[in-house]
Amino acid sequence: MLAPDVETRPWPQQLALDDASYRTQLGYLFDRSAFYRGKLAAAGFDSADAAGGLADIARLPLTEKREIRATCTPANPIGAHLCATPSEIVRIYSTSGTTGTPSFIPLTAGDLDNWVTASARSYAASGIAAGQRIVSTYNAGPFVAGAALAAFDRIGLCHVPVGTGNTERLMLAVELLRPDAVVLTPSYAAYVVEWAAERDVDLGGSSVERLLVAGEPGGGEPAFRAKLEDGWGARVTEAMGIGDIGVSLWGECEAQDGMHLGARGFVHAELIEPETGVALELDDGATGELVLTHLQQRAAPLLRFRTRDHVQVRTSPCGCGRTSPRVRCIGRTDDMLIVRGVNVFPSAVRQVVSAFAPDVSGQILVKPQAAGTKQEPPLPVSVELARGASADAALAEAIRDRLRNVLLVQTRVDLVPWGSLRRSEYKSKLVEH
Ligand SMILES: [Zn+2]
Repeated sequence: MLAPDVETRPWPQQLALDDASYRTQLGYLFDRSAFYRGKLAAAGFDSADAAGGLADIARLPLTEKREIRATCTPANPIGAHLCATPSEIVRIYSTSGTTGTPSFIPLTAGDLDNWVTASARSYAASGIAAGQRIVSTYNAGPFVAGAALAAFDRIGLCHVPVGTGNTERLMLAVELLRPDAVVLTPSYAAYVVEWAAERDVDLGGSSVERLLVAGEPGGGEPAFRAKLEDGWGARVTEAMGIGDIGVSLWGECEAQDGMHLGARGFVHAELIEPETGVALELDDGATGELVLTHLQQRAAPLLRFRTRDHVQVRTSPCGCGRTSPRVRCIGRTDDMLIVRGVNVFPSAVRQVVSAFAPDVSGQILVKPQAAGTKQEPPLPVSVELARGASADAALAEAIRDRLRNVLLVQTRVDLVPWGSLRRSEYKSKLVEH
């Protein structure tokens, strides 16, 4: 553990400290954030005192990413939630927007340091320790993932950056430099398993003992995880963040039962029902959309920010001794479809389908027929066959039945030949929009 005093602090004590940070943060927002002054006043809160403490947070309005974007102007391209003066800002990251214009994420020196601290705790939870060697496949470029790379220095690792999208270079580094760990997206980890199998490369016999996956959901799906662990001969743990709030906020420990909040003290986590926005208790087993609030952010703090990540919470004691709640990401709310009243996550479809290995490759593509979330059954799903397997009506029917029994969704399963669904060297698309 990087910070045992912090990471094993009893959770009620953490919440008491967080309550004090939160009240200070609210005061700062009323003082400096034009966006939140206006938004909170419109909701009937004209001062930090009126807004109360963490126990009252669910009375405050949620923040959507598009609201922030709507306030961007040529004079203020960051948005009206910007609180810091230009001289206080030491870094500006971008997130890739769907509209083409990036969102800018400014950080003060203190913000950046907190990001790296949280990220280092999250990655260290995997069990990797000072003196070990890690190969990273993220580009340090414009995106917040760049800040995660600084966490490896903080842990004291020997960091070997090989960048994105060059599997030969990655495998050469693995073979020659014998790293203990590799950090990459789960999609890319799966791609490398296939890449190695095609070339008779003994991936399982490599020096790599830990795979740290992040950047998209999936690394926690049991069947998908088993495939990665089997192919790499390594233990898989996940990390997760959200660009607007912080990089690698959450990191899984060696118990492999969900990601601990590495950003405890810096970020407050809530759960809501995505359709209604109603706050849910953070109880063991609860599922919902994750909502995050900065507690100590200075440059552009966010309050009750909707992450669009749909998670399951675990609050049972963890064998590692960390006391923060844990989450497992089920999927992105944006990818969720509603088929005759039933919520369906493409990642859950993939999990069910993957159980049909070795007959299937594990690649799927959900093909909604209508625009928007609501779909009429049957929902078309392309399921890729394993290499050498041929289409078989009984297999398609068995998959369809299993999907109906497990996810309560009626599908039309189309078996497609091996290699026909696109692999990703970064993040997978499970839905054809
Ligand atoms: Zn743990």
